[in-house]
This record gives sequence, structure tokens and C-alpha cells, in this order.
Amino acid sequence: MSLIITDDCINCDVCEPECPNSAISPGEEIYEIDANLCTECVGHYDEPQCQQVCPVDCIPKDPDNEESHDELMEKYLIITAAA
Ligand code: SF4
Ligand code: SF4
Repeated sequence: MSLIITDDCINCDVCEPECPNSAISPGEEIYEIDANLCTECVGHYDEPQCQQVCPVDCIPKDPDNEESHDELMEKYLIITAAA
């Protein structure tokens, strides 16, 4: 499952450099996560790095983008192969 940034985001920019997949970028109003690039950090870390650093805890899992661990690992392998 990809993570999603809610409108509680205060645009602090702390999460963007922590993402190993470059999935986070500034959007028009708040920061955004590209669901095609977010692996919940599977393949890189045990925990989602953005969630660890967000000061306002506004990065939950996206219920509209459910993926199993195996699917996330497959996504990780595709992303790293393309990089
Ligand atoms: S969970 Fe990991 S891969 Fe997904 S946006 Fe956060 S830091 Fe990036
Ligand atoms: S760390 Fe949290 S508050 Fe800061 S830009 Fe990222 S999502 Fe927004």
C-alpha cells in the first residue's frame, strides 16, 4: 500500500530527502507521494522513513492503494531496475 499525505501537512520539507524512492515532491498546496514510486520503504528500510520524520504525523497508509508485501517488493525491484 502506498502512503498518502493528508492536508494536515505543514510543508516542512523534512520527508522529501528521506524517501529512498524519490516518491515525495511538493504539490500545489501540500507535499505529495507518487503511489507508483512508494513501496512503504519495502526493499530499503523496515519502517516507512517519511512517517518516522514527519512532525505532524500526517502520512497514513492510503486505503485506496492497498498492496501486499510481495507486491511492494515487486514494485521495489521494478523501480531499482529502471533506475
Ligand atoms: S513510505 Fe518510504 S517510499 Fe513511501 S513515500 Fe515514504 S519514504 Fe518514500
Ligand atoms: S514531513 Fe509531514 S508535514 Fe513535513 S512536508 Fe512531509 S508530510 Fe508535510
